[in-house]
Amino acid sequence: MLLMHLIRKRVVRPLVDAKNLVVSLAEGNLDANIPRSRHADEVGGMMRALQVLRARIMERNSLAREREELITQLQASSNTDFLTGVWNRRAFYTHAQQQMAVAQRYQRDLAIVMFDIDWFKRINDEYGHLAGDEILRGVAQTVQQLLRKVDVLARYGGEEFIVLLPESDLQNGMAVAQKLREALEQKSFVVDGGQELRVTASFGVAASVGQQALEQLIKLADEALYTAKDQGRNRVEMAVE
Ligand code: GH3
Ligand code: MG
Ligand code: MG
Repeated sequence: MLLMHLIRKRVVRPLVDAKNLVVSLAEGNLDANIPRSRHADEVGGMMRALQVLRARIMERNSLAREREELITQLQASSNTDFLTGVWNRRAFYTHAQQQMAVAQRYQRDLAIVMFDIDWFKRINDEYGHLAGDEILRGVAQTVQQLLRKVDVLARYGGEEFIVLLPESDLQNGMAVAQKLREALEQKSFVVDGGQELRVTASFGVAASVGQQALEQLIKLADEALYTAKDQGRNRVEMAVE
């Protein structure tokens, strides 16, 4: 009887416990309590092995989490313009291609607004490149605040930006561009040196019709933007096909 009791206590129960622990670890439950065996026998060794196994699983999980976070950070930084924090041109293209495909497939409206800061070279020349950088950040922020969540603002190059407006036709696009133009005209940006600087921008607007390519739409918006420059700047022009 005593022997039976001893075998049950020292062998059978720990074995059942160990089996349950292995199942529990396999299911991802890492909080289970692994008893420390006082005995230097096989059962004690098995419990220590389970401790090691659990530590390894935790380590691996934490590495996997770190890797996920790094990937997310990397994706964000590779999609973002480092100066202004808005999307960069590459990310814009990828997103815009998808949006164009959806718009064409379901015959939805889609507009593109391009704008370029007027006489920006003068800002750099008169107040320095850092002041210029601050203006670029300020302009991006001002515009971003006026857009809807579904709209995408990207820095297209130097002091030129592009906006994708899903579910917007040419008239909506023109209205948005006018709103942005007015907001920039009214805003003053205080730069590091304490000066209050003002800038304006010229806008070109184009809207998707039929099956035209994204590049074609951007080209039309760009041409309209240069018409706006030609016509005296600080104005909005729509694309002519
Ligand atoms: P326009 O009205 O015709 O657009 O005149 P503009 O002076 O804005 O045009 P231009 O293309 O001659 O000059 C653009 C300037 O933008 C020149 C360049 O040094 C400046 N620029 C481009 N990228 C940056 C940047 O990242 N930071 C700063 N500070 N300036 C930049
Ligand atoms: Mg310019
Ligand atoms: Mg330019």
